Amino acid sequence: MVTTPPATTPGRRTEPTAGPTLRTVLGDLAPEQLGVCDAHDHLFLASPQLPGQELADPEAAAAELRAFRAAGGAAVIQWTPHGMGRRATELPRLARESGVTVVAATGLHQAAHYAPEFLAGLADPAALFVAELTEGIGPDRGADAPHARPRAGMIKVAGGFHGLDRHARRTMTAAAEAHRATGATIGIHLELGTGALDVLDLLCGALGVPPHRVVLGHLNRSPDAAVHRMAAEAGAYLAFDGPSRAHHATDWRLPDAVAALCDAGFTDRILLGGDTTTAGARSVNGGPGMPYLLHRLRPRLELAVGTDAVERMLRANPARAFATNWP
Ligand SMILES: [Zn+2]
Repeated sequence: MVTTPPATTPGRRTEPTAGPTLRTVLGDLAPEQLGVCDAHDHLFLASPQLPGQELADPEAAAAELRAFRAAGGAAVIQWTPHGMGRRATELPRLARESGVTVVAATGLHQAAHYAPEFLAGLADPAALFVAELTEGIGPDRGADAPHARPRAGMIKVAGGFHGLDRHARRTMTAAAEAHRATGATIGIHLELGTGALDVLDLLCGALGVPPHRVVLGHLNRSPDAAVHRMAAEAGAYLAFDGPSRAHHATDWRLPDAVAALCDAGFTDRILLGGDTTTAGARSVNGGPGMPYLLHRLRPRLELAVGTDAVERMLRANPARAFATNWP
């Protein structure tokens, strides 16, 4: 009798491998298994800053993942941090049913995204981040629901507009401590793309996080080629994410910014993401959503830097950026 080998579903819990892995909501994954990756996006998100626009519908999330899969996508790094409606227990099922690998996040956004009493109640953010990275997100449901409590695979924190306030310094200090304990990569929301060098000074300079464990997000919103170049020279990853958003007028500069970095030899530092943050922005609700990254941004960038470079930005770079040697 011939037995059929198990299907190699992306994101399936794999045997432990030597070397760095990506921590997905279905277990740890070898980097070469990641595939075409949206390196910064959201399936669920809720914030007092975005009233009435919450990403809260599991079926819409499932439909968005199916649309991304149909467009050729294989993996999504989900940057929604602690306390912003992550709905983490939904993620394993969504990953399994869609066949799309999903990485979840721990961390904290800017203070404006939380009720003050919620933040005041977080006595030890570093311990929280470490627990979500190593034990799981949310309450322990026991051995009969092993996938219901996925672990986070990255830490997301945020800077401010051209600077870092007290909350940003506190959360980045906690992120650095959690990085030291776990090796997890730290993804940064840069407010309107600004403050990249302030973040690197704090995280890598003062707090000792290796620059190649830092992903600077939203750089497309502040297309300052000199700052991009300095951040790349420092060794950080640069995420160009959230193209096609109505309130950011810098889309047309994104290909030139990416080309400048490639010309300077930093193709391996560049990540691409969709960063869908509102229900109306999902493709299944008539917005650009996750598929836009592959069916519009990808060919546009290929015109600027060629297919090989864009392929690296979508596969090898995110696999390297988010894989680590977990304890
Ligand atoms: Zn985001």
